[in-house]
Amino acid sequence: MKTIGILTSGGDAPGMNAAIRAVVRSAIYYGCKVYGINRGYKGLIEEDLEEMNLSSVGDIIHRGGTILKSSRCEEFKTEEGRKVAVKVLKKYGIDCLVVIGGDGSFNGALKLTELGFPAIGLPGTIDNDLAYTDYTIGFDTTINTIIDAIGKIRDTSSSHERVNIIEVMGRHCGDLALYAGLAGGAETIIVPEINYNVDDVCNKLDTTKKRGKRHSIIILAEGVGNAQDLGKEIVARTNADLRVTILGHVQRGGSPTAFDRILASKMGVRAVELLLDGKAGRVVGTRANEIIDMDITEALSMTRDFDKETYEMAKILSI
Ligand code: ATP
Repeated sequence: MKTIGILTSGGDAPGMNAAIRAVVRSAIYYGCKVYGINRGYKGLIEEDLEEMNLSSVGDIIHRGGTILKSSRCEEFKTEEGRKVAVKVLKKYGIDCLVVIGGDGSFNGALKLTELGFPAIGLPGTIDNDLAYTDYTIGFDTTINTIIDAIGKIRDTSSSHERVNIIEVMGRHCGDLALYAGLAGGAETIIVPEINYNVDDVCNKLDTTKKRGKRHSIIILAEGVGNAQDLGKEIVARTNADLRVTILGHVQRGGSPTAFDRILASKMGVRAVELLLDGKAGRVVGTRANEIIDMDITEALSMTRDFDKETYEMAKILSI
């Protein structure tokens, strides 16, 4: 009988609970024992873990956040920290570990694998910034949260004939801005992957105003720059009545969408199947609607191609 450990690490994402549930339930179904490790690698080093059963994961599939809590842990980045972690894993008879998180958490899982401890990664991050997978767990829910906010801001923006800048998450990856901007009908989408200039943004406001449009939504990914500064620059050039909304942490929470719940469930089951097959040092993802798995080093070395086609299409649709 295998004993599997599971933890969530890095920024939390809606759907992490559905992934935990899938790992715990499928592992128990296949006759394994499961330990839930609290607060990511930090809880592992501090021996904060407990055995999970079928009901430990009852009533969580619809909940945002993570019942195992999450954290960032500098100590785990050191060799000494990881040695303590492996000692704890061995003390509890844990044979292998499922890590749900982003690229940083995967680097941690890779380091464990290099120490001879088998680990599997599941992509739990709202940013969709992992190149090897089409979607990460949490991304779809966050897009839906953003378009809900865009819709509400659009209502008031239309009543008052205002320009609105909405800043969304995404430090290096503009996927949230791009897809939420497209789905929310934004006039301008500004992402870290594509250079922009304020003149183009102002010219567009001018053009759309001339054809009778009295309000406008600009979506800005946080990695590009400060939304307030951009707002001031636009007001200085156009004299627009402009407001800035920084969506912030509302984007991290909320009940996961059906898409994220299903994705997380499928990925969680695949992780357990891989471990039962004796495979480790792998990450689970999805490509072209199929669940895939891949060597963790290969996955981490991939660079992400920005979806320029969709970006250009969104521009056409917002003329
Ligand atoms: P998000 O995408 O939400 O930021 P993440 O998993 O990338 O999630 P990080 O803060 O980068 O978040 O990483 C989470 C934790 O993983 C770190 O606090 C650290 O404990 C561990 N970790 C990150 N990088 C490494 C590394 N190079 N070696 C060992 N452990 C690491």
